[in-house]
Amino acid sequence: MWYVKQLEYEFANNYALIKTNKLKYMVFFPPTIKSGPKLLKERLSLRKVFFRKISFFISINKEFSPSFDLNNFYQNINTARFITFSDEDAKKNGSFGLYYNGDNIIKTIQSEDHSTIYHELYHLSSSYIAKDGTVFTGFSQAPNLKTPQIARGINEGYTALITNRNFGNDYSFPVERYFMGMIEDIIGREMLEGLYSKMNLLGLIEEVNIKGIGEEFINCLFALDNIQINNPYLITNLQTAYLNIALILVNLMKEKINYGLIGPQMAELSINNQMSILNNIIYNSYTPSISNAVLSNQFLTKVKNQIWSNIYFIKVQ
Ligand SMILES: [Zn+2]
Repeated sequence: MWYVKQLEYEFANNYALIKTNKLKYMVFFPPTIKSGPKLLKERLSLRKVFFRKISFFISINKEFSPSFDLNNFYQNINTARFITFSDEDAKKNGSFGLYYNGDNIIKTIQSEDHSTIYHELYHLSSSYIAKDGTVFTGFSQAPNLKTPQIARGINEGYTALITNRNFGNDYSFPVERYFMGMIEDIIGREMLEGLYSKMNLLGLIEEVNIKGIGEEFINCLFALDNIQINNPYLITNLQTAYLNIALILVNLMKEKINYGLIGPQMAELSINNQMSILNNIIYNSYTPSISNAVLSNQFLTKVKNQIWSNIYFIKVQ
């Protein structure tokens, strides 16, 4: 059971919802999205480069992401404002683009060939503020605009993943992106794109729970939030995320072995393979949030031991 609407919840660090002993999380029902007017003619008054990119965004999504619901995009795009900042400002802020959900403004770097705008258009497509103030952005959500959103790590990861797949050149949030790629392998691309565009975190949790990894998924969700929010350079945040991703893999392999889909040796091999991919991502990452963070060999040995001790208890039929 997943907890819906805030009845009893606690905040840790003035931000994250923590798990109570009754295993409850605050997760809002997704908003009801109206089908909207399509792209209005008035929008032609936008700078040509923006109009061209918006039209391209629509046609690419229609063609390659048919399960992505564009209704909320149409609701937002017709009133959105576009502004630019200089390349120098971008360097200073460590960001090439921003979407302000409260004001419906996209701010991007001036260079016209930059693909950041597509990443921000995905944020715009999946942003909604309900009448009671609840804020939805893709998979992330908060009771109001002042409270930092939960699940913002997985939301950024998935935003980067679909931007990169449909438009290329989005290498942001590598660990989060890798994690959501794994989740997509488990529940399917169509399902995940649909849930993201409909801002349905609850639906996502239910889907992964059906696959038997609800608990680990929630732990990953919070661990990935911590990478971004608390202290991005704090190695323990990265370690926690890494460990939780490893545990999801172990659990999935357990399920596969128990259903006779894979042998224990193949499971070991597959886990090894995935963990070395994740190692590489972390070692070679240049994103501001996780640069300088190198996992110690001691820690990696600890994770390995934990994985093998879990594998050992698998019942092979
Ligand atoms: Zn983003």
